[in-house]
Amino acid sequence: SDHNLSYPAAPAAQDWSAHYPQHDGGGGDKRVEIADVGCGFGGLVVALAPRFPHTLILGLEIRLQVTQYVEERIRALRLGGGGGGEEHSYENASVLRANAMKFLPNLFEKAQLRKLFLCFPDPHFKARKHKARIVSPGLCSEYAYVLRPGGIVYTITDVEDLHRWMAHHFEDHPLFERIAEEDLRDDVCVEVMRNDTEEGKKVARNGGQKWVACFRRREDPEW
Ligand code: SAM
Repeated sequence: SDHNLSYPAAPAAQDWSAHYPQHDGGGGDKRVEIADVGCGFGGLVVALAPRFPHTLILGLEIRLQVTQYVEERIRALRLGGGGGGEEHSYENASVLRANAMKFLPNLFEKAQLRKLFLCFPDPHFKARKHKARIVSPGLCSEYAYVLRPGGIVYTITDVEDLHRWMAHHFEDHPLFERIAEEDLRDDVCVEVMRNDTEEGKKVARNGGQKWVACFRRREDPEW
């Protein structure tokens, strides 16, 4: 089920310089701080890149051809293929083929990430498939591990049952607290998640509803 993917034994073993050649992503102190889990065709990654120009952003995607599409998309943007006379170089955006449900701590150090996105995850409707969902107590603990205190998990879905499921698991987790809606009103990431993901656009075209829930990584408890 892991699609025969290989993973670095530890985050330091991953060659990030190939992903961010202009950003010293390898030996330097610049590390990925925003991750999009199940990034699909990369709409969120590409929309966030100019908004967080000094932050390294990584999409994680399990499907080979979809990952290759995003690689091509970013390559074209870096070459200025957008044709829109864009200022941004997209050197801070990249994608990695990976099963995010496995080995996330092999890719990111403890407390490395500032933001983690779960946008329109596969709903796995049937009860016997719920264990395939991208949110579970164990996975919440992994997300807490890779996020720094104060970091944020952003979730959005058009499936109400999945929304409740995700909210329930993060709210139940001792290392997360739900962020109040009014505190999200000015958060550009919520707007991007709603409007710039491919799924978000599709749901809008079909007149569907989108549920958003965000959670802040708490401080580690004192022992
Ligand atoms: N986030 C994108 C969006 O909002 O447009 C894509 C949403 S799509 C419904 C879900 C994506 O998650 C698919 O591209 C799928 O291949 C990917 N995916 C599913 N399980 C995954 C996993 N364990 N690790 C990485 N990606 C995964």
